[in-house]
Amino acid sequence: MNRDIFSADHELFREQFRRFAAKEIEPKIEEWNERGMSDRATWRRMGEEGFLGANVPVEYGGSGGDFLYDAIVMEELSYLRAHGLMMSLHSDICLPYITAYGSEEQKRKYVPGAVSGEILLGIAMTEPGTGSDLANVQTKAIKHGDSYILNGAKTFISNGQIGDLFIVVAKTDPSANPPHKGVSLLLVEAGTPGFVKGRKLDKLGLRGQDTSELAFEDCRVPAGNLLGGEGQGFRMLMEKLQQERLCIAVASTASCRRALDDTIAYVKERRAFGKRIAGFQNTQFKLAELATEVEISQAFTDKLLAAHVRGEDIVKEVSMAKWWMTDLQKRLTGECLQLHGGYGFMREYPISSDYADAAVQSIYAGTNEIMKVIIARRLGLE
Ligand SMILES: Cc1cc2nc3c(=O)[nH]c(=O)nc-3n(C[C@H](O)[C@H](O)[C@H](O)COP(=O)(O)OP(=O)(O)OC[C@H]3O[C@@H](n4cnc5c(N)ncnc54)[C@H](O)[C@@H]3O)c2cc1C
Repeated sequence: MNRDIFSADHELFREQFRRFAAKEIEPKIEEWNERGMSDRATWRRMGEEGFLGANVPVEYGGSGGDFLYDAIVMEELSYLRAHGLMMSLHSDICLPYITAYGSEEQKRKYVPGAVSGEILLGIAMTEPGTGSDLANVQTKAIKHGDSYILNGAKTFISNGQIGDLFIVVAKTDPSANPPHKGVSLLLVEAGTPGFVKGRKLDKLGLRGQDTSELAFEDCRVPAGNLLGGEGQGFRMLMEKLQQERLCIAVASTASCRRALDDTIAYVKERRAFGKRIAGFQNTQFKLAELATEVEISQAFTDKLLAAHVRGEDIVKEVSMAKWWMTDLQKRLTGECLQLHGGYGFMREYPISSDYADAAVQSIYAGTNEIMKVIIARRLGLE
């Protein structure tokens, strides 16, 4: 079906990105998956070509486009299975905190480098003892003169090894009541004394992406690196999570499409009992059902993308999309793997990594259970 949210300029941009990705990204995916990490040179090339932070204002080095340009890059990377290059984390999850809440000085210092791919970004919310219950973070940032002394441990941090600048969620007022009022965001540069990059974690999926532990041991962060005001961290996080979850829905739909396309091609080739697997009614019905759900997914995603670009509050609907589409992705990759038979279980068939990669989609950016808590709250069910 024709998608009507994109202009001719968007489509041109997609074509440009496809050409770039075929030449400069696709050949590297296998190496990233083996190494457990992408490479800085590719990030810089993405920046040079204008594929990072395309919606950042021109005065800070961006192209001043809308969010749809970034959505295009996300879709194309997901369809390629280039999960190592977590562009949406950098451009659409982290960067907006700085462009929206940063001081003029912070924006001038960090945004142009992020857009050019020189400064890679990450966000450190999760701790070994605290994930979903974000207001309960134990990392502390206590003010001493013109610095904050940061102490605490973070885990599961994407871009943890390759990243240069992290938005760290910490308590500047550990005794605040309610606790979320003590939460603040600090910009912490890699290489700051006391900022220790820990283990790169060994994951089931997203093998080309580095996910790490981080530790802060009496790490002195200049007071000027506080993002927004003290105690404003939780509000800023809540405001920006709509876009983060929309990114997951966009990526999830594109990943479903890829798994489905590859499976349709496979069942047309593979034969059993003297006919193609595609000829069995079970195969036809399964794929017909999944293709229907992917189209529904796409229609909902596009509606949300358009509303998001118009600046509407669609927290409830984005939470619906995040849980429903990531659930679909897990179900769909399982069904598609089954249709591959034993080959689906073999690493050389990409459907096996699709299955593993899908597992995390319902966990990060707020688990699907938390999505339902948000939806229920917005339905007035408290
Ligand atoms: C690959 C990967 C990358 C990640 N990247 C980042 C990153 O870059 N930055 C970052 O900060 N974090 C990151 N995370 C962490 C991720 O956001 C957390 O794992 C997630 O928020 C869940 O937290 P948790 O793991 O502590 O689970 P828990 O909060 O311990 O949850 C365990 C289970 O309990 C359920 N649960 C919890 N509370 C409720 C409730 N109120 N009602 C019903 N059920 C509930 C959850 O849904 C879940 O099923 C990443 C995680 C992974 C796996």
